[in-house]
Amino acid sequence: MMITRRDFLKIGAAVFAGTAASKVATDTFDSPLYADSVKDLKPDKKVPTFCEICFWKCGMLASVKNGKIIKVEGNPDHPLSNGRLCPRGTSARGIIYDKDRLQTPLIRTKSASGKQKFEVVSWDKALDEAAGRLQQIMEKHGADKIALFSHGHGGSFFKTLLKGMGSKNVTAPSYAQCRGPRQEGFGLTFGRDVGSPEGLDLPYTRCVVMIGSHLGENMHNTQVQELSKAIDNGASFITVDPRYSTMAGKSDYWLPIKPGTDIALLLAWINVMITEGIYQKEFIANNASGFDKLAAHVKDKTPEWAYLHTSIEPDLIRKTARFIAKNAPASIIHPGRHVVWYGDDTQRSRAIAILNALLGNWGKRGGIYMPSGMGVKEDALPDFPEQKKFKLKPKQIFPFASAVPAQCYVNSAIAGEHEIQEGEQMRAWLVYGCNLPTTLPDPRQVRKALQALDFVLTIDILPAEITAYSDIVLPEATFLERYDDYDDKPFRTPYIAIRQPVVEPLYQSKPGWWIAKNLAKRIKVNGESLEKYFPYKDMKEKLEKEAKINNFSFVEIEKKGAITRKVEIYDNSPTMKFSTKSGKIELYSQALTDAGFAGLPEYIPQEEPPEGYFRLLFGRHPVHTFSRTSNNSVSLEIFPENELWLNTEIARILGIKHGSYVVLQNQDGVKSGRIKVKVTQRIRQDCVYMVHGFGNKSEKLTKAFNRGASDSDMVTRYKEDPIMGGTGMNVNFVSLIKA
Ligand code: SF4
Repeated sequence: MMITRRDFLKIGAAVFAGTAASKVATDTFDSPLYADSVKDLKPDKKVPTFCEICFWKCGMLASVKNGKIIKVEGNPDHPLSNGRLCPRGTSARGIIYDKDRLQTPLIRTKSASGKQKFEVVSWDKALDEAAGRLQQIMEKHGADKIALFSHGHGGSFFKTLLKGMGSKNVTAPSYAQCRGPRQEGFGLTFGRDVGSPEGLDLPYTRCVVMIGSHLGENMHNTQVQELSKAIDNGASFITVDPRYSTMAGKSDYWLPIKPGTDIALLLAWINVMITEGIYQKEFIANNASGFDKLAAHVKDKTPEWAYLHTSIEPDLIRKTARFIAKNAPASIIHPGRHVVWYGDDTQRSRAIAILNALLGNWGKRGGIYMPSGMGVKEDALPDFPEQKKFKLKPKQIFPFASAVPAQCYVNSAIAGEHEIQEGEQMRAWLVYGCNLPTTLPDPRQVRKALQALDFVLTIDILPAEITAYSDIVLPEATFLERYDDYDDKPFRTPYIAIRQPVVEPLYQSKPGWWIAKNLAKRIKVNGESLEKYFPYKDMKEKLEKEAKINNFSFVEIEKKGAITRKVEIYDNSPTMKFSTKSGKIELYSQALTDAGFAGLPEYIPQEEPPEGYFRLLFGRHPVHTFSRTSNNSVSLEIFPENELWLNTEIARILGIKHGSYVVLQNQDGVKSGRIKVKVTQRIRQDCVYMVHGFGNKSEKLTKAFNRGASDSDMVTRYKEDPIMGGTGMNVNFVSLIKA
């Protein structure tokens, strides 16, 4: 039965009734006393795999005793972990043994009286129904009306499925809601992004500038290890942040900048370097174009000018500019990762890229090195049908977007809004590993889209809020219970790593590859089943075949977890080749000018918070990765709820005490849940700050439900970057109501 208007459905206790026996098996592992009970146990085996708690993918060794994982640690043979995990990685048992996990396939049903509920069904029934619904939509509306939202390594199988169906609509929230502006800003300047992991030669650098980047709170394992080597090697740090962050505490200089004014500071630094002639002149002369235009552009962007916007003293701007330049080329302006702030973010990333160019650090020791990968070739697949794209409206098309921003598919699902006519809207979403109502800006719009779609299929591990809007929910095995494709990201030490099952999947969960293959088996295009795009009986067969094709030993990688090789990562040739149109670093971008944008970054003042409101800033905590850890008992034991950072003087004026609770109300009248106040001098007076990922609304996440407040609920507006569609989310203001 087609349900066109879906109610928010709680996955109730009834759907877990048949699985009580497995639940008992997990309770011991969920207990805080667990560590004591296993610390002296000798494991039966240690299985290498790689972590999926964040996108970094560190190598992990999982110790198994009597068929249960008793411990995880970093794999010394994996170049991203070097034998260590970050605090989130070490909490991995909290995910596999989470008693709240999705246990069976579920289908939304509707009774004769119209009441909707989830019903536990067999895999066959769920797959038949899901494939049938997708087939029906493809035939009635076209494959271009189906989109995949994907986050995580296992998404590759669903991308193949969508390709087989003839849809090109694949999006990842990580593009427009996180890294996209950096990717395009560096791409426009250097011809390529800085990579992931970022190719920063931190161990050998002499100076690092963190501007809106929070290493230490943002625990990307390898980078934090390298940062600690940089500290040991005597590197200096400059932190630009409205908060006295963990990184600011380790820095030589803290610049408590007014939020939204980074471009003004970056332009003033460029001004000082050029007017004082302290940039890397030979490097720029040999490798860059557009220097004269840049010099003319920043002529009046003096530290005195920047002070009026940023509130950073001119002397401090000059002093730090000289300090950064003095250490070049072993000096880095960190490009950041989550870089969607105010809708001018590609230009902000361009300004960071230009500064790095002036430091001459591209390809240099202690600067930005040249990462390379081993490039695993996959087995050849039969030809795919033509890939059709959803026809976006002109306002949803961004000239320099190398991926479709996720919010475009949200807006496209709502007929009658955003110029989408009835009958031409997006019809179905496959959602892999993304809790969209908390991941995308303007959750009201996301919920509206979810209710408007003909069909929503979610593949996930936990009953996050997205499952409550789904027609069919398929429980995926965790990363510790499954094979995935090899990981072979470019890095200073090129590597190939394997993800393999450490233990059997719990409950009735299945690996993503199995789910995608079995959906493919049931879907036909031009009369042929899509199973031909999954030509292997199981994942081990696929990986063994790829090891043969790529000439490495499967037995070795299975045993060690990763194989590596050595390469040269520096380029000291006086003249370098760049993949830009001109073959040089493009300080001035003709491509941007031709498309109607400024060829050089310009500072445009942001809207100020109204009287009685504060700018809402949000970020990370070292033990949490948003929805991946929000219900993790291990992570929650360390950091149980988010807090609102509020300046001491403001708290005194408002009569708000440290440790008391408040409710936030944003500029659109939307209220948050209760949040505890942290009164501190470590934040400016014009903003408040909270950790993202709390205030969960899914009751079935028993540990996360209603803990802290959701910053996502407050992000009811965003400013789109006209260059690539990134969603600037720091444009929301909140007032505080005592709770
Ligand atoms: S940085 Fe931490 S959470 Fe991310 S992959 Fe590595 S160990 Fe896992």
